[in-house]
Amino acid sequence: MAVIRRICVYCGSSGRVDEAYRAAAIRLGALFAEAGVELVYGGGRVGLMGLMADAALAGGGRVTGIIPYHLHDREIGHTGISELVVVDSMHERKRRMFELADAFAVLPGGLGTLDEAFEIITWKQLGLHDKPIFIVDVAGYWAPFAALIDHVIAKGFAVRAARDYFQVVSQVEDLLPALALAPQSELPVESDLV
Ligand code: AMP
Repeated sequence: MAVIRRICVYCGSSGRVDEAYRAAAIRLGALFAEAGVELVYGGGRVGLMGLMADAALAGGGRVTGIIPYHLHDREIGHTGISELVVVDSMHERKRRMFELADAFAVLPGGLGTLDEAFEIITWKQLGLHDKPIFIVDVAGYWAPFAALIDHVIAKGFAVRAARDYFQVVSQVEDLLPALALAPQSELPVESDLV
């Protein structure tokens, strides 16, 4: 069984989205606080990111955000969180988020969220880590993502095992119970990461 103290959540910086996605972000933040799980995220105050962080803080949870200085204004770095780490680049942000987290969850989001999800999945494919990755398929948002991976496998561009690099849960309430059953990951080979 995995020991999960900190979970990195990737999610959208847009808040002009369906209420179901907003509610899921708020609920996940609250669930983390209740469970005593630290939230690691991109450090912004905007969109689902901000809603999730605020909900975790409101529940008494610990929240660590990692934001590059050039996005500090655009995504409005959340200065109210437990720790806001300002870094030099997107690469540094993603690396720090990766290093801090015991597991990863992907809520609905846009291109940035897709980039982050694919990167953490491909790092697993490369054997750079073995931490659990969960796609949270709120209201079926990520069905095209899973279908795309299946298509890539069907056409021979990825091995069948690629489907096992991540798991899908259909609602935020299922995340922590599923993570509790996930196998313990081995330590990543951090020096291998770019
Ligand atoms: P989005 O899903 O596009 O709303 O973005 C979610 C988060 O991903 C935001 O914090 C963005 O700053 C971040 N992001 C945007 N583009 C990238 C990228 N190319 N690589 C990594 N993160 C990104």
